[in-house]
Amino acid sequence: MSDTRVRDERADQLVEAAEALFTAGVMSHSGHANLSARLDGERILLTPGHVRGLRPGQLATVAFDGQVLEGTLRSVSAEITAMHTAVYRARPGVGAVIHTHSPSATAFAVAHRPLPCRTEPMLRFGQAEEVPVVPWGPRGSDVSVRGIVEVLERRPTTSAVLLANHGLLVFGPDAAAAAHLVVAIEESAEAEIAAAAIGGAVDFPPDAREAVRVALARVAS
Ligand SMILES: [Zn+2]
Repeated sequence: MSDTRVRDERADQLVEAAEALFTAGVMSHSGHANLSARLDGERILLTPGHVRGLRPGQLATVAFDGQVLEGTLRSVSAEITAMHTAVYRARPGVGAVIHTHSPSATAFAVAHRPLPCRTEPMLRFGQAEEVPVVPWGPRGSDVSVRGIVEVLERRPTTSAVLLANHGLLVFGPDAAAAAHLVVAIEESAEAEIAAAAIGGAVDFPPDAREAVRVALARVAS
């Protein structure tokens, strides 16, 4: 596929993912989020500083070192480039990264509480383990980025982290998968908080992960 076609395809996927997040109702009041997709080499496509009403042509091409190669970024987005590229560097299989302030997931981030995997969608959409918390550091700072890298090293199979006192960072093979996981995580966080009022959420049985793997394999075959 040509360079331009890859860019166009990834840009369309990011716009669709952004719209899906608004449709699912997982955005905070401010509508703040940033989304990115991996291009070839050490380059990504990144939202320019807004996601509401995003159009494919507005996405910027940014090098892993933060240099804007095409398009323009608001300063707010320049700050978050390192947060995204840290994930791409740490996880070669990741094709898209999404950051949101989804309210219930952010409640866990503010409380410094890891989010357990105790709902079916989380188990199925790529997060069959708790979402760990990355210690706070100013957005885009070395402290914050180093914290993300350290947690990803310690938790090699997690597809999401909570950013303490900030929000949620989710990643997946493509933008649609990452967006699905944002929704699954936000739903789970909401359910955890609701369940706390009626006695508390309960863990899956120990063999749940294996049972889901077998069920998914049966559907795929
Ligand atoms: Zn943020």
